[in-house]
Amino acid sequence: MSDINALADEYLRLSYHGIRAKDKSFNATLQTDFDKSIGRINIMQQDIGRVILNLITNALYAVTEKKRLLADADYNPTVTVSTKKIKDKVEIRVSDNGMGVPQRIIDKIFQPFFTTKPTGEGTGLGLSLSYDIITKGHGGEMKIDTKEGEYATFIIILPL
Ligand code: ADP
Ligand code: MG
Repeated sequence: MSDINALADEYLRLSYHGIRAKDKSFNATLQTDFDKSIGRINIMQQDIGRVILNLITNALYAVTEKKRLLADADYNPTVTVSTKKIKDKVEIRVSDNGMGVPQRIIDKIFQPFFTTKPTGEGTGLGLSLSYDIITKGHGGEMKIDTKEGEYATFIIILPL
């Protein structure tokens, strides 16, 4: 059983402070919007924790990259995590206003070992592992909504 709101909140803050510890100039706005009516759900903490951490790590990477490439002082990196109970399902969204995913690679990003990151920075296993945990492991769904250069939102739907 897992308290997904608490888990997501903790991972978001820990990941952010992990980056800040290495790079003091990094600033991002962290937003959360948790549905408090979601209590503990029937999913192992290691499973859902790993998925949430993968998505948050990717989101923070995407905004860091955008900040590095964009010499725009007005860019405000933002990562948002939200949860919502919809009938007998729970929806978890991890969203960022980073690089987005180009249309031509959308079909590839869930495949094992697919990465666009430099050697040593990505294994390409995060999304494929997350996808398997959610779909095969828990009968859920995992989708993406994105616009290249603007945002990426990963949406997880889990049956309760
Ligand atoms: P890795 O992070 O090791 O590259 P993942 O399976 O987690 O592997 O992600 C695969 C690829 O999907 C990334 O290399 C990147 O191209 C793309 N991707 C994943 N999340 C995001 C995101 N939030 N914004 C933009 N691209 C992303
Ligand atoms: Mg990853």
